[in-house]
Formats: sequence, structure tokens, C-alpha cells
Amino acid sequence: MSVTGAGGSADLIVVNGRVLTMDGDNPAAEAVAVKDGAIIAIGSSTSIEEFKGSGTKVINALGGSVLPGFIEAHMHLFSGAAELAHLQLAGVHGFEALQKAIRDYAATHPHARMLVGQSVDYTVLDDERVTRHHLDAILPDRPFVMAAPDHHTMWANTKALEMAGILNGRTLGPGNEIVMGDDGLAAGELREGEAFGPVLDLAGEGRVRLGLATGGEPDPMPSAAERAADRDIMRRGLAWCARHGITSIQNMDGNLYQLELLAEIEAGEGLPCRVQIPFHYKNFMTLDMLDKASEMAERYNSEWLSSGMVKVFYDGVLDSWTAVMVEPYADRPDWVGEPLFTPQQFIDLAVAVDRRELQIAVHSIGDGAVRAVLDGYEAAQKANGKRDSRHRVEHIEVTTTADVPRFAELGVIASMQPPHPPGAMDFPLEPTVSRIGPARWPLSYAWRTLKNAGAHVVFASDWPVSPIDPILGIQAAVLRKPWAESDPDQRFSLHESIAAYTVEGAYAEFAEHRKGMLKSGYMADLVVLSADIEKTAPADLHKLRPVTTICGGKITYQAR
Ligand SMILES: [Zn+2]
Repeated sequence: MSVTGAGGSADLIVVNGRVLTMDGDNPAAEAVAVKDGAIIAIGSSTSIEEFKGSGTKVINALGGSVLPGFIEAHMHLFSGAAELAHLQLAGVHGFEALQKAIRDYAATHPHARMLVGQSVDYTVLDDERVTRHHLDAILPDRPFVMAAPDHHTMWANTKALEMAGILNGRTLGPGNEIVMGDDGLAAGELREGEAFGPVLDLAGEGRVRLGLATGGEPDPMPSAAERAADRDIMRRGLAWCARHGITSIQNMDGNLYQLELLAEIEAGEGLPCRVQIPFHYKNFMTLDMLDKASEMAERYNSEWLSSGMVKVFYDGVLDSWTAVMVEPYADRPDWVGEPLFTPQQFIDLAVAVDRRELQIAVHSIGDGAVRAVLDGYEAAQKANGKRDSRHRVEHIEVTTTADVPRFAELGVIASMQPPHPPGAMDFPLEPTVSRIGPARWPLSYAWRTLKNAGAHVVFASDWPVSPIDPILGIQAAVLRKPWAESDPDQRFSLHESIAAYTVEGAYAEFAEHRKGMLKSGYMADLVVLSADIEKTAPADLHKLRPVTTICGGKITYQAR
């Protein structure tokens, strides 16, 4: 056991646990003592009971695992929280089922300005692509739009397209498309934010989407009532994180408004999770606008609320052929996708952000995007000198043999999502695996390959793209199956998977000396699970539930 300071009575102790500290020097224990937001001792239940005073709260873990609080390394708090109130279409398959779900939801939401569905499979109608005509047959007289699980494609009915003023199409920036039908009108499929933004704006959630859509601020400034409503959305999202054992959030969209809302919650009742909100740089911005990123980093730099990161999208997604590939798509031999920045534009951006000593995180799904982003990071190192920059590449759904070693060489973090490989969790195999093509399968979602090559790999859900539950992510990583027998085994062990949600997450935010492990002096961020995770069969991991979540020594979720 290890003890910091003079001891005395703890604010809270957790006893009778299977404590997995993730600290190599002291891997296992039974109990943890917490005081003033920090861990003061770890050891046997008997030794920790000695910290119990009259005011000490005692949590009996009943033999369940006690882990460092999960660090969600890539998610979208504000939009995810708003979507908790939308129609959930995951698992709905076939026209009849879709019709019933939409009509039931419409009937129970008679006053919604725009009915919004989430997480509908690209293959909901099997091989038939969804059009506005399908949706008109279901709901002709009220505006309806539904989003694919990846949030990069939406389908709208005619009413919604009309109200948004895009039934006749519209010229959009690269990578965005209003798919047109043979009749010269929009077919209903809307690819990327500029295409579906006008429809979503009608849902009255424009402020929620700003951090993702433009990175800009609400204009006009929201009224007090609107701010209060937005704080409630944030609170709903934070509570959703806490109930899933999450204590730190690395958000992947943002603006000052989100930081202000969170600061208001912090000033009120305190935050139940630590949150990092990036500045979102879009391709229509100019480099001088990075001043705002530096300002956000300066204003928000506490253990609870921070910025210090610039988030960028370099490409789109495989399922709509908007991800950027080195070689053409297997099912579209004349097409490699279209980047949202030119390689030179990205290099200039990377050099400029790196010079400000801010961290960069770039959505890069195709191997062409991954390569261009690594090129940018390499250029930044050459221009500004090598430093401990920990720039990140997000998703990395496909990469190349040549680029795998560059992660370790450049000190770049691989941020990956175990729920995302088709067939791993909710996403179907098709169309994605045919789009990638067997030649690229061995280096698709290749977290094992990257880790073996020395990369720091962090895991996350990309909520609301996938369910937020880190335990589901751990299960998906442990059970990952290759698509062909000849493909390499990309599975992570249980400990590696937990590390990717804890210690590696802490590393990604330069906080490995303060969190991500259970250790004396570290932040008291921990989660107690319903059973012993090491004794649970991999296929049963999803049955484990967080029972108590503690962040900064405060109980932020309690199941019983
Ligand atoms: Zn994301």
C-alpha cells in the first residue's frame, strides 16, 4: 500500500473491490481512499478502513472491478445530448419497420417543427438507396429527416427539402452533395453538413450544431431562456457520460459558446465530468482566425474545463465515398474521394497551429487523408522543431504499410473507435467492406498493427456516432474479428483495451501524471463496476454496468 501525506480521515473510501489500478508498479488492490478530490491511498480493505472517520462516505464495491474513470477520447457532447431526444432507428430494418417507427414517433411528437431520426443503416432498405419518395410514402405532410449512424449522410422527405429550400439543389463546397434525381430535383440523400445543414436548422437545434457545422458562435446571442435550455441539454449529456463511467471527455467539436455553457454549469452545481472543448477550424477560415483557438486555450485551462486543441476534418466517410483514398475505391474505380483541404493548405494549417503550441486532431478516415495529415505533422516538425506535440489522427479506418511507422516516428496519437469496424458492433459489413476492397482489409481499423509499430492508441465511441458505453467498446476491441482469414488479428487484450480508455486517454491530454491510473496523488476519478471485469467472459462484457462513478472525489452516478 502507498500513502500520501499525513493520512487522517478520508472523504470517501471504496472497499472490497477488485481494484485494477492500471499502474504497472502497483497493479492490483482492494480499496481506495479519497480526500479533497485526490486519491490518498490504495491498498487492502483493512488498511484503507483506517482512513474512515465519522464523516467518511463508504462505498462497498462488493467484489466488482474498480477502474480509473473512463476517458472518452473522441465524442460530441452537445449534439449527442440533443439527439437523446430524437427518434432512434438503430436496428430498424425494412420498409415496414421504418414506417412504423417514423409514424409512431410523429404521432407522439405532434408539435415538432422537424422530426429527426438517428442511426438509420445505409442498408435499411437492403440494396435500394433511400429516396424522398420512400419517406413521402411514410410521412407526406410533415417534414422528416433521418441520419446515418456516421452522421455524414441524411435522408429527407419532400416536405423537409422544400421547407429548407433545397428541393432544386444548391451549389456546395467540396465533399458536400445534395444528390439529384433523374427528375432534376433533390433525390432526398444529403451528403455532409452543408447539404443537410439547412434541413437540420429547421429542427431548432442550430446552436447545438454550430460547434460541428461552422465552429462559429450563436448570432444573435441566445436569450437567457435559450441559454438555460442549452445548459439543460449539456447537463443531460454530462449525466449520460457519468452513468457510463466516464470522468473525462475529449470533445471533438466546439466553440466558445459550449465552453461558456459548461463554465456556467461548473459555477452552479459543478461539472460531473472534466471536459476539453476544441476550436473547430473549417476550410473556409483563414489562419489568423487561429487567434480564437489561442484565446480559448488561455481562458479555459483548468482540470475541469479546458481547450488547447484545434479540431479539423480532412475528409468524409467511406460509405458515401467522401473519405480520401490513396488508390481508388474498390467499388468505384475512377474515384479516390475529395479532400476538404488541399495537402498544401493542410500543411500551412498544421505549421501554424503547431507554432502556437496547440494540439491538432484531424478526422482522417481514408488512407489518403491519413497520409496527408501525417505529411502536415511532419512539415510542422520541420518548420517549428520537434516538441512533445502529441498531435492526433482521428479514426484511421484505412492506412498503408508506408504510413504505419510514421505515427511512432512523429509522436502522433492514433485515435480509434472499436465500435466502428463494420461487423464489430452496430455497423453492417456492407457497403463498407466492398468499398474498401480485400486488398486494403489487412490495414483497415488496424489498431493492433499501429500499436505494435509503437503508436499510442486511444479508444473512444465518437458518440453519438456509436453508443457511448466504453464497456461496449472494450468488448468490441477484445472480440474484433478479421473479415478474411488471411487478415491480421487486430484484437486488443482486455488490459490493452482498458488502457486505451484510461492511461492512453490521459496521455492524449498531457495528463498521464495526474489521471488515467489509480495512484496516490492522482485525481480521484474512478468507476466501480457491477462485477469483476477480469473474470467476465469476453462475450459477456456488455453485461457489466457501472455502479458508481466518482469524479474529483464526488459521486457523479450511483446505480443503487
Ligand atoms: Zn467525431
